[in-house]
Amino acid sequence: MSREIDEVLQRAADGGRISPEEALALYEQAPFHALGEAADVVRRRRYPDGIVTYLIDRNINYTNVCVTACKFCAFYRAPKHKEGWSHDMAEILRRCAEAVDLGATQVMLQGGHHPDFGVEYYEELFGTVKAEYPGLVIHSIGPSEIGHMAKVSGVSIEDAITRIKTAGLDSIAGAGAEMLPERPRRALAPLKESGERWLEIMEVAHRHGLESTATMMMGTGETNAERIEHLRMIRDVQDRTGGFRAFIPWTYQPENNHLKGRTQATTLEYLRLIAVARLFFDEVAHLQSSWLTTGKPAGQLSLHMGVDDLGSIMLEENVISSAGAKHRSRLTELVELIRTAGRIPAQRNTLYEHLSVHWTPADDPTDDRVRSHVSSIALPILERDRPVEDQLAKN
Ligand code: SF4
Repeated sequence: MSREIDEVLQRAADGGRISPEEALALYEQAPFHALGEAADVVRRRRYPDGIVTYLIDRNINYTNVCVTACKFCAFYRAPKHKEGWSHDMAEILRRCAEAVDLGATQVMLQGGHHPDFGVEYYEELFGTVKAEYPGLVIHSIGPSEIGHMAKVSGVSIEDAITRIKTAGLDSIAGAGAEMLPERPRRALAPLKESGERWLEIMEVAHRHGLESTATMMMGTGETNAERIEHLRMIRDVQDRTGGFRAFIPWTYQPENNHLKGRTQATTLEYLRLIAVARLFFDEVAHLQSSWLTTGKPAGQLSLHMGVDDLGSIMLEENVISSAGAKHRSRLTELVELIRTAGRIPAQRNTLYEHLSVHWTPADDPTDDRVRSHVSSIALPILERDRPVEDQLAKN
């Protein structure tokens, strides 16, 4: 390892700030183990109790109709397409009820840019869910949806944000970030707002009290420098608002979309990016890895590269699975992954507060009904006291 790389790793591990140029040098040149160890030092300093968190939530998609036609997306259908659908409120509430029964603390209401869905639609959506399930946190949509609804309703971004927050939106998911730098974003999603605009809307939301997470989609042909530029753009906003609770990178899934999987990020690239993100984001508290897109072994390895959160069990997920993500998990398995990585599992809420710390295996949850369902219309109703595999075999 060169003296320069060693010096940057030491400084970052000690909590010092590194520049985008230094982050790129680490990403491309730092020895893998030294990079992971430096990121893990940061994790240990932030979370000395060794706890790694997970969440129980459900992604509920209200429509797949979308006018934005992103080239990496396998989920959307153009308006008037025969496979387009929108769920009514009764169906959305029914899915919320199932999620609550399985212990979910959060819903992510996500959907396409429907040409008719303005602010009024989202006020009704969030207001109805909040009225029926006041304890369920609505961590949903992203700057793209906010920009779209404001345009449909002819109101300002500030007005849209104020109204949906009043209706019941608790925080904003970081969806739609994909790649923020101009060149890859235009190539991937030419009809989407620019990365700068995505961040501007996020900044307005943060200033109005709606915190968020930030995401990144890797593996569509972007350069290493563009990956680091994505991080820089997020950090600049974080320095002004402090509104990003977590950073969540995931990898592009290649099936059923226009890009056709011509490029993809490798596991090694993903893990290196995870570690560099932990070192670069000195002001972002949490780092979540994506077992859904990279697989459970990579998810477990990431816990030694600076990650402190494994995200959700995903009671339902339709968007990324449409593009080929085949990974599934069960709550008991996710907890086991954390424990056998040498960490202490804990269920968290949206604010990253610990709801239940499983200090010893005797504290581990046992409800085997809590498991991933991908592209589901409805979750099978499973009885708590009978073996789940038997029940699923009959469904
Ligand atoms: S990623 Fe979102 S905005 Fe883009 S096409 Fe898919 S549903 Fe529409």
